Amino acid sequence: MDFNVANEAETESLAGRLAAILRGGDVVFLHGDLGAGKTTLARALIRALCDTPGMDVPSPTFTLVQTYDADAGTIWHFDLYRMTTPDDVWELGWEDAMDHGIVLVEWPERLGNRLAPPSHLAIGLAQDTARPEARRITLTPHGSWKDRDLI
Ligand code: ADP
Ligand code: MG
Repeated sequence: MDFNVANEAETESLAGRLAAILRGGDVVFLHGDLGAGKTTLARALIRALCDTPGMDVPSPTFTLVQTYDADAGTIWHFDLYRMTTPDDVWELGWEDAMDHGIVLVEWPERLGNRLAPPSHLAIGLAQDTARPEARRITLTPHGSWKDRDLI
């Protein structure tokens, strides 16, 4: 499923719609280059899930993970860019995250094939060189996500 958004506000509004279908146990992979908008989309998802529009949602670039308590469950926001080996994820609470958390992962490629959960929603963000504010956002369901209604 593909969406062409014109600006950041449209990315955020798409995230708001997505948040409505997320529940404990869901894993969302965020793919895209640096600056593609992974954190922007994750931030909007977290604010929507916490029902707190202006909430501070720092990028986990340096901490690698941040957690939030939402009505739907604990949200785990990972940014694995700086992780050097897949097994380092265990030190970040991966096992607890997989136990009914709502898990958002930037740079999921760092998990490798062995640790990546087979059921996840992959969201790809791609920039458009001609229109700096525009993004193509692609939703690809994997595993049990194939049986779910997306937005
Ligand atoms: P990433 O986490 O993928 O490295 P960020 O979300 O940190 O990317 O940064 C995306 C940057 O692009 C932000 O500065 C944001 O303001 C800007 N931006 C411009 N247009 C959009 C858009 N349509 N969607 C998301 N971000 C956008
Ligand atoms: Mg980021």
